[in-house]
Amino acid sequence: MSTVSAYAATSATAPLTKTTIERREPGPHDVAIDIKFAGICHSDIHTVKAEWGVPNYPVVPGHEIAGVVTAVGAEVNKYKVGDHVGVGCMVNSCGVCSSCQAGLEQYCKNGATFTYNSTDKDGTPTYGGYSQAVVVNENFVVRIPDSLPLDKAAPLLCAGITLFSPLRHWKAGQDTRLAVIGLGGLGHMGVKLGAAMGCEVSVLSQSLKKMEDGLRLGASNYYATADPATFKELRSGFDLILNTVSANLDLGQYMGLLDVDGTMVELGIPEHPMEVHAFALAAARRSLSGSNIGGIAETQEMLDFCAEHDVTPEIEVIEADYVNEAYERVLASDVRYRFVIDISSL
Ligand code: NAP
Ligand code: ZN
Repeated sequence: MSTVSAYAATSATAPLTKTTIERREPGPHDVAIDIKFAGICHSDIHTVKAEWGVPNYPVVPGHEIAGVVTAVGAEVNKYKVGDHVGVGCMVNSCGVCSSCQAGLEQYCKNGATFTYNSTDKDGTPTYGGYSQAVVVNENFVVRIPDSLPLDKAAPLLCAGITLFSPLRHWKAGQDTRLAVIGLGGLGHMGVKLGAAMGCEVSVLSQSLKKMEDGLRLGASNYYATADPATFKELRSGFDLILNTVSANLDLGQYMGLLDVDGTMVELGIPEHPMEVHAFALAAARRSLSGSNIGGIAETQEMLDFCAEHDVTPEIEVIEADYVNEAYERVLASDVRYRFVIDISSL
């Protein structure tokens, strides 16, 4: 066991504070990683604030982990000391169910082990990336290509894969009229990845405040959803809509923006359920779906794609003791576009 510093939440209302946690000695199939950078995902905030149910406090959030290998178990061949690696939202799964066999570990029928607020195979709680080091089974470690700096690679491990996976699943390409709702951490990766895949990308943001950024990131069009004219003008105008908003929306209104056979994919996971009238679906054979991160092989494919196409997030690197203010800024939609904790400051 080794003791490392971490930032943890001890209740839904208390600020995160510095503490220490234990990390196991690497087993034969484990990789020990010195964490260099950890992204702040809105899911960290939902979890800490008990918006998805009461978590197992203390919670050490962080599932956008980029670091360097410091030790490997005797049976590990894929990684060696010094390699740049990443860990995303999962650290284990059953490996034998049909989902795991299909490379969809995120949909493990026996329940994937998530990077924090989960129970590991050995019965201990999992603690995430707001910490100096982590030990992870080699099958849940991905390689960060040399051309991606570690600070910019970190957000790809959740925000990147969460947008890459549905774009691939729904075969987004040159003929796709894509809308991304919400220009935050996930949304801005949707714009960049969608543009890199050749889609015509439109951003649907609450206001036009971030329009210049949206267009610079690769969008062709940018609309304010606070303006009712937007919904008239764009009616039946999209093939695929990726909803990255962390709060409830009037889904029926947004479904009306899909053309016949279009699909809306729920990526944001707000605290409360949302309603949609069946007319909004039936009126144009529209589909409402959802998608959760991506499998491990697909996460590696996404990192390689980002390296090849020079797709990286826009980040604001912060010191660890700024994490509570960063949370407030994310909640105020004041993030450009992902906070990344420099773990050397911990
Ligand atoms: P974020 O950086 O806070 O971005 C969310 C964006 O939603 C904001 O920037 C804002 O964009 C928009 N928004 C916020 N409140 C709104 C409101 N009341 N009405 C309309 N728009 C609003 O969060 P994130 O890290 O990208 O995460 C977004 C959501 O995805 C969270 O619910 C998170 O838990 C979830 N998530 C899901 C997965 C998955 O696998 N499915 C993975 C990661 C995260 P504008 O300012 O442009 O309007
Ligand atoms: Zn996340």
